[in-house]
Amino acid sequence: MAIQSLAPMLAAAQAGGYAVAQFNTDTIEAGQAVLSVATELRAPIILAIGQGVDRAGRLEPLAAGLRAMAEAAEVPVCLHLDHSESLPQIGRALRAGFSGVMIDASAHPLATNIAETRSVLGICAGLGIGVEAELGRVAGVEDDLEVSEEEAGKVDLATVSAFLAAVRPDALAVAVGTAHGFYNRPPEIDFGLIRQVHGLGAPPLVLHGGTGLSDAVLREAVACGMAKLNFATELRKANVDAFVEAAASGSALLDALAKAGSAVAEVAQKKLAITGSVGRASAR
Ligand SMILES: [Zn+2]
Repeated sequence: MAIQSLAPMLAAAQAGGYAVAQFNTDTIEAGQAVLSVATELRAPIILAIGQGVDRAGRLEPLAAGLRAMAEAAEVPVCLHLDHSESLPQIGRALRAGFSGVMIDASAHPLATNIAETRSVLGICAGLGIGVEAELGRVAGVEDDLEVSEEEAGKVDLATVSAFLAAVRPDALAVAVGTAHGFYNRPPEIDFGLIRQVHGLGAPPLVLHGGTGLSDAVLREAVACGMAKLNFATELRKANVDAFVEAAASGSALLDALAKAGSAVAEVAQKKLAITGSVGRASAR
């Protein structure tokens, strides 16, 4: 199975009416935990490296470790760069063996977003690397990225149509009312908007900010056409909480890391059950 490009992985999900889970993996242990669950459940999986990892100076070493695990995996694995706003960083990701990259030019005017997405598609063409773009702005904080509620905005159909007439990424993140991080109040997801964007014949759609959404809301989002669900904050919290608890009770380092990994696996298992991707590992 090994490493797979984002493009065929999500095309299969869109065609099959299910979603693939993206789990942000900041450590080798988190990656191992997610992969063991995905293998057990026969689910294709996306391991994402975010901007915080690069800021910490670990993009290349973590990618090398995750890539080695992905190549040995029994299920399709996409190694994906999350929320990149920089072409040089995307170049580094290509050299580090990623099979998916997200160009997030959503803060820019539409014409700039189109131009940047087109550039990245040009760089990745023929390399087996899928490209995710973003329209609208997802509120909240994720790694270095902070978007206030005033700046955040849902996509509108005319913008999606104009964007897709100009450029066609392999996956499209659309702001539909979710936020990064934990929610201060229940989010209002615009399911009708998801259906309408999906109905335009859009590429596989991506829901950012999966943390804190109920299982029912996530299932409905998939039913409306979301083909990729992103989870970061909830896994990180489970990871840290389990590590702190183990360390406080006197566990040795490796034991504490193992307990943190088990906590990540538990969250990953619950989320995978919602996506509809369980048992789809052969769909490539
Ligand atoms: Zn995101």
